[in-house]
Amino acid sequence: MPGPRTGAHRRPAGRPVSALRGFPPVLPVPRAAGDDVVASLATTVLPELAPVEAPAPVVEAPAPVVEAPAPVVEAAPVRRRSLRDRRPHLLLAALVAGAIGAGVLGVPGSTQAGAEPSSELGVQMELATEDVSEELLPMASITEAEAQARLQEVAASRAERAAAEAAAAEAAAEAARPKAVLPVSGARFTSGFGSRWGTFHYGIDLAAPLGTPEYAAADGVVLRAGAASGFGLAVYVLHDNGDVTVYGHMQEILVEVGQFVEAGETIALLGNRGQSTGPHLHFEVHQGGMSGRKVDPVPWLAARGVEV
Ligand SMILES: [Zn+2]
Repeated sequence: MPGPRTGAHRRPAGRPVSALRGFPPVLPVPRAAGDDVVASLATTVLPELAPVEAPAPVVEAPAPVVEAPAPVVEAAPVRRRSLRDRRPHLLLAALVAGAIGAGVLGVPGSTQAGAEPSSELGVQMELATEDVSEELLPMASITEAEAQARLQEVAASRAERAAAEAAAAEAAAEAARPKAVLPVSGARFTSGFGSRWGTFHYGIDLAAPLGTPEYAAADGVVLRAGAASGFGLAVYVLHDNGDVTVYGHMQEILVEVGQFVEAGETIALLGNRGQSTGPHLHFEVHQGGMSGRKVDPVPWLAARGVEV
């Protein structure tokens, strides 16, 4: 019997049928035939059939499962609906029964029913009498104007608190802000305060590339700004202790006379104007005012926490 089977399956393949028929054992034939059929299906027929036939049972198998719950899901709302419909009736019935039980017969099986108004009817009666007595009392009230005034009070106190918080934040920021800075950062200290080349050098020289920002050494107001003999350009800043700092040789001035500047604020760009041998800032401190005594800026800065 395996002969015709294999022949039937293998007929499309052709030649191999006769070769397999030559083998007497029965077992190898169905195996080989089966394998060949699977293989041929996989290579030739399956790609077309598989997508159609294989998923079909898979889809059909779950389908009943999906369809099975469906009626259950549909049935559920129906049951719920019916329950909802019934619920009021049930509640009504229960209430009526309870009312009759409590009002007419007393609470069945309870000896306290007579002593305490613990039944629903009793509580409802109490509530009803309380409502009546409350309606008789005058209602506490204030005028809308009074309420508005109260609202304004609250708003005012909140605004006051916000202002205080803002002031505190500002004070904290102010406290954290540096009160003095080196007028040029990353500069090279090229000349100090004192005798130099037969004259007296009344400031310090800080060398840095052209255009390097120059900062106000401390908070102050710009006293003078512009052309200055020997300095080419110069800026004079008056500080709150009366001292004046002087900045010379800058390439460009970025502040105006009368302007308040904070410590660290850029007031000019470093230059090489005037009597200068290279790009640098010439920085002086005049104690107690424009015409005050010129002092060594290094200890003046050090006293303000700035190392040169
Ligand atoms: Zn100098």
